[in-house]
Amino acid sequence: MPDDTVFYYNIKTAEQSSEVLRKAEEELETICEELDEVMKRPARGFANGLNRSMYHLSMSTKKFNVTDDCIHCGQCERICPERAIELREGKPVWVKSRCIKCTACINRCPVSAIQYGNGTKKRNRYVNPILANGN
Ligand code: SF4
Ligand code: SF4
Repeated sequence: MPDDTVFYYNIKTAEQSSEVLRKAEEELETICEELDEVMKRPARGFANGLNRSMYHLSMSTKKFNVTDDCIHCGQCERICPERAIELREGKPVWVKSRCIKCTACINRCPVSAIQYGNGTKKRNRYVNPILANGN
């Protein structure tokens, strides 16, 4: 599937993501069968515990910031499923110390004003085409 985790590295362009989606449609049935098998396995062991700890640590909202490109549309506040964002004086403020890191705010800001740390300015953004078409 297309990757949207712009926090950590650059993601594919819109064109590349469309191609990934097209191929995924072809492979979806096989993927579902394999996932079914994986979900039946018990989740135990050191690696699983370590993954959970690292996941928990990475949930901090501390690194989110917004540039002067913000046009004060309020979309980030509206779409955040955690209600972790409030618009104050027209700009987003992360009012919760942790969130689920769904990437909606950073990917769907219409002017890419939301950043995460210092590394995301030049990175691509990804919006699922269903959402991009206003559905
Ligand atoms: S979605 Fe982007 S432009 Fe709109 S208020 Fe949030 S940061 Fe500003
Ligand atoms: S990543 Fe998702 S949950 Fe976290 S602040 Fe942005 S929209 Fe909200």
